[in-house]
Amino acid sequence: MRALIKESPQPGIAYRDVPDPELKPGHVIVRVKSCGISGSEIARYRWTDAYHAGGAKDMSRQLPRIMGHEFSGTIAAVGPGVDNRSTGDLVVIQSVIGCGGCESCDAGLPNHCTNRVTIGVNADGGFAEYCAVPASNVYAVPAGVALENAALLQPFAIAAYSLEIGGIRPGERIGVWGVGAIGVSLIQQAIIGGATVEFAVGRDHGRLDAVRQLGVRHTISANDGDPSRRLVELFGGQKLDAIFEVSGHTPAINSALSLLKRRGRAILIGNLQEPFKADLLPAIMDQLSILTVRTYSLAAWRRALSLLPRVQNQPGTLPVERVPLAEGVAAFQRAASGEGIKFVLEP
Ligand SMILES: [Zn+2]
Repeated sequence: MRALIKESPQPGIAYRDVPDPELKPGHVIVRVKSCGISGSEIARYRWTDAYHAGGAKDMSRQLPRIMGHEFSGTIAAVGPGVDNRSTGDLVVIQSVIGCGGCESCDAGLPNHCTNRVTIGVNADGGFAEYCAVPASNVYAVPAGVALENAALLQPFAIAAYSLEIGGIRPGERIGVWGVGAIGVSLIQQAIIGGATVEFAVGRDHGRLDAVRQLGVRHTISANDGDPSRRLVELFGGQKLDAIFEVSGHTPAINSALSLLKRRGRAILIGNLQEPFKADLLPAIMDQLSILTVRTYSLAAWRRALSLLPRVQNQPGTLPVERVPLAEGVAAFQRAASGEGIKFVLEP
C-alpha cells in the first residue's frame, strides 16, 4: 500500500510504498477514509532543532513511522479475539493507547499513562490506505454523521476535555486565544453549554469570520498589532471568568492573567513556543487558577462523539480542504507555510 512516512529525525515527510499492516489478535484493520493533519503533525513535519530537543525524543528512536492520528474509516478485517466489531463497520479511531493496568488507565485517563502509545507517533497511523489498531480504540460513527466529518473528532474531544478541566458553567464569560481546530471546537461547545464567548484571537480572517458566525462577540486579529492592548480596552473594566490559551503564544498567558476576575481560570492547551515568565503575585492575590490540558479523557472522547451529530453542519465549522493522500507532501508544505485551513488527506 501507499503511505506518508516520517523517515528520519529531520524536516520533511515522504510518500512511499510500504507493506500492508499485519492483523494481530485483538486488533482490526481499518481502510482509511479521511485523516486530518493536526498542529502536532505540522511540528513533526517541520522537525525544528527545538522540536528535536523537546518532545520528539521517543519518536526519533522509532522511525520510520507512518504518521496520522485523526482518522476514520471502514473496518476491513477483524482479528482473533474481537467479537464486538464486523467488517464494514464505520468507525473513528481514538489514537491514545494506554497500558490498561496503571493508575491513570484505571481512572479512564490513558492520556496520562506512563507507557502511553499514540497511533501515528509510536505506532503506525492513518496517512495510509490501511491501518491496524486495537479493537478497543475504534468507536462506531454516530448515525447521521459523515465518515469524513468523524475524522475531525480528535480536536473536538480535546476541546470537550478542556472545558471540563476549566469547569465552565452556563452563563460564564470566557475568551479563547487561537482559532485552530481545537479553538473553534472549544467555542462551539462552550456556546452549546451556555457560556458566552466574549472574544477570540486569531491570525486567519476566514476562521475569525467563522467563529463570529458561531456567536463570538469580539474577534481580534493577531496580525494588527498586539491583541492584548485591544483586550484591555474591551475587558479591563469587566473581567472574565476563564480564558483558554490554544495558540502556543506565551504572551497570551500574561494577557489572560490580567483579564481574569478573582478566582478566574486560565486554561493552557497550546504547546508553548517559549518559556513563560511572569510576576505571579497579582495572580496569587486574586487566587487565579492556571490549569493545563493534555489530550483528553475517555469520558471526554465519548462526550464529544455524542455531540458530533449536533455540530457537524453548524455554520462556522472549520474550513476543511480534502486532498488525495498522494498529494499529501504538498498539503504538508502548504500547512507548514501557515495556510489557515485544515487539511484532510484521503487515500
Ligand atoms: Zn496505563
